[in-house]
Amino acid sequence: MLILELAVVLPAATLILLSFWHLNHLQRDRGIEAFIQREFSQVLAISEKQINQRAYDLLEDVRPDIPAPGNTCSVTLDKILAAHPYIAHIYVYDPQAGMVFRSQPDRLRESNFRAEAEDLDKMFDAWMKAAFDDYAKELAKAKTKGKPYYFESTWAPRGEKHIYQSTASFLKVDEETGRKAIVGVTFDAEYLRDRFFPEMLDAVISHNSADSQNDKNHAVLMIHPRSDSTPLAASAGWDGGEPEVERNLEGAFPGLALAIKKRGTTLAAIGQHFVHTGYLILGGLSLLLAGGIFLTYRNVSKEMALARLKSDFVSNVSHELRTPLSLIRLYAETLEMGRITSPEKYQEYYQIIRKESERLTALINNILDFSRIEAGRKEYEFRETDLSALVHNTLESYRYQIEQHGFTFEEKIEPVPPLRVDREAMARSLVNLVNNALKYSQDRKYIGVNLYRENGAVKLEVIDHGIGIPQQEQSKIFEKFYRVGDPLVHNTKGSGLGLSLVRHIVQAHGGQVSVNSTPGEGSKFTIALPLQAEEKAQAATRST
Ligand code: ADP
Repeated sequence: MLILELAVVLPAATLILLSFWHLNHLQRDRGIEAFIQREFSQVLAISEKQINQRAYDLLEDVRPDIPAPGNTCSVTLDKILAAHPYIAHIYVYDPQAGMVFRSQPDRLRESNFRAEAEDLDKMFDAWMKAAFDDYAKELAKAKTKGKPYYFESTWAPRGEKHIYQSTASFLKVDEETGRKAIVGVTFDAEYLRDRFFPEMLDAVISHNSADSQNDKNHAVLMIHPRSDSTPLAASAGWDGGEPEVERNLEGAFPGLALAIKKRGTTLAAIGQHFVHTGYLILGGLSLLLAGGIFLTYRNVSKEMALARLKSDFVSNVSHELRTPLSLIRLYAETLEMGRITSPEKYQEYYQIIRKESERLTALINNILDFSRIEAGRKEYEFRETDLSALVHNTLESYRYQIEQHGFTFEEKIEPVPPLRVDREAMARSLVNLVNNALKYSQDRKYIGVNLYRENGAVKLEVIDHGIGIPQQEQSKIFEKFYRVGDPLVHNTKGSGLGLSLVRHIVQAHGGQVSVNSTPGEGSKFTIALPLQAEEKAQAATRST
């Protein structure tokens, strides 16, 4: 038991306790939330990179078409605008030629767009005039550092509202003349809001969580102005609510922030759910462990009880063997000495020797039968038998012994249909029951044996008016080695094998043995053997 506890229960219990402790920690430190937040931060960093890269790609498409400084005219810029509809405005400024500012011609009919164009034209013109040299130097420096564009965000008027816009500026240098111009390309605000950002966000989501797309709680993204949390654009499935992690965009879209969350839930809820599930699983495991311990404990106790019964059995059997053997030796020695004179005494001594050797044989037969049954080697020889004759003959050879012990003996044997039984085994069962009735009776010495037919079965009853068996013991007495813990029983010789053999034999015949007993009043053991199918059929035809 101790080994079991040390080897199995202790490690398992420690593991469960550790897991509880770990879960508790996770819950307190919000470990799950922190873990997902870290993952989210990574997704945002990757998203920013991809968004910038895409913006650069769009600009790189435009860049080669820009004419060399000095060659710029409205027509070339209009051509560029026509080829790249995602650009709303484009300007080229060089100090000698001044500002050439063009906007998408079709859209200039919209008053908002025209106002936006005029504003930007004025703003860039004034700015370039004032700061061209410094700005050109800065752009040249940035370019050497691997940053070919400088981005400026503005808010374009759309009726009452304003809409986000980004302008990329870069330096264009004529390699031959060394003449410099600053070029500005403004992304179309509607294009950014309605196509660029949603497409980018969707691409990021499907790229980063390809396998969890079917998960109803997959991640969703949105972009919003830094100063205002209203989404400017969002990935498909954005369901509002507080973002879990945010990241300010640097690069192509200054002034904007990326935000991410789980669709339909919050990280806190996920963390809670995880911890709750963990607790539930651990609770289940603890219950299983407790159940396992309980079952093992019961099993081990049973084994220990059986071991105790076995050792009792050994001492009981040794005792049972020794008593008849010493009696036999004693009487045989007395006879040998030849001192006895009366022939009656001779008779009596011979009888004692015979009876004791019969007891020995019965006991040894029981033990042999038992060991065969235990080893699964017990074989029965079923033969058509007249049970009335078998019972009667068996009792006859016992009658003298029974009556000599002062018992009233009643035998009611009705004729029953022949049954296929193992004669020796059935006789032994009956002898065991009669022997018990003899052993466990005190003042009221009565033994009754009945054989009759009832409801498709043949019943054999052995009745005594002996000490009886308490209700709670009645199911146990058929177990091997079991003896009732009553001092009356204890003082009676026995091995605890008799009834277990009876039960085995009866069951091998397809029957059942049962007991009906009241302590102090007596017991009735009933063997019920089913009539075979053909007998039942015969009985049916006879009764019709
Ligand atoms: P034992 O060798 O002890 O008689 P059995 O298997 O025949 O072993 O019986 C098991 C126990 O059942 C007995 O020890 C006794 O306590 C109880 N028992 C059996 N038959 C009777 C009976 N006729 N009256 C009272 N108790 C009985």
